[in-house]
Amino acid sequence: MEHKQESIQICPICESNNIKEQFQLKDYFLSQEVFTISKCSVCGFQFTNPRPLKSQISLYYKSEDYISHSNKSTGLFAVLYQLARYLNLAFKYAIIKKHTTVGKALDIGSGTGHFLNYLQNKNWLVQGIEPDNEAAEFSRNNFELKINSESELKKLEYNSFDLITMWHVLEHVHDLNERMSELLRLIKPKGTLILALPNLDSFDANYYDKYWAAYDVPRHLYHFTKKDIENLATKHGFVIEKIYPMKLDAFYVSLLSEKFIGKKWGFFRAIYIALRSNIKSSAQNPTTSSLIYILCPNKA
Ligand SMILES: [Zn+2]
Repeated sequence: MEHKQESIQICPICESNNIKEQFQLKDYFLSQEVFTISKCSVCGFQFTNPRPLKSQISLYYKSEDYISHSNKSTGLFAVLYQLARYLNLAFKYAIIKKHTTVGKALDIGSGTGHFLNYLQNKNWLVQGIEPDNEAAEFSRNNFELKINSESELKKLEYNSFDLITMWHVLEHVHDLNERMSELLRLIKPKGTLILALPNLDSFDANYYDKYWAAYDVPRHLYHFTKKDIENLATKHGFVIEKIYPMKLDAFYVSLLSEKFIGKKWGFFRAIYIALRSNIKSSAQNPTTSSLIYILCPNKA
């Protein structure tokens, strides 16, 4: 694949122009192309640079097979898959319940709509944003959900959501600052914004280094740490209220990282690294492979 790219000249978070190339790594997952990670010398933020244009990034996404997983098939694999999905939804909802009460919710990057459907069944008024047409269509047909494309985001009304969620989505968004402003505009003054993101400061990220599967270049444009999210939140009028660990992600990411490395005993090493990554994390200072950030807007 040879495609047009854009270089970033100023740090997307602190806007310094003091940016240095850090290292190169491959898109092990799909294209096998080499990409560069840049680091801001002022705030430390790391990002994929240069990166594919927004208009071409879809070339780096595999046509997903998650639709087929969502079909009502039987068999052990399908049952386990559905059980895992249910537990995942219940886990997310348990966190949501601690921070907000039933109201109006927007899920950006809503995929096949299972999360919104779960909220809907708990009496939430819900809508979604999903760039993938097939996934959006699936959620409309199966759950009667209201799903719009990304360009509709700016047409949604100001101060209209009690809850906005982005589950592993913000790291894919080209217009990072524009999106953060949009989130502040859309959320109610007492609303809750939930961002789930990979954590570059995790033990597994450090151990796997350039093989860390959650770099996922060029699909992941940013490689956030907690400090980066703090800076980004402050810049856009949000405050981090709480951070939760996502313990299962370490297993998935470590297994995938071992697959990229391709050495013997990879499965067992992955389990060991994932366990160590989770053990190092504490409730006071969660450092797991991925983190869930609970943000509150700082607006009247
Ligand atoms: Zn910076």
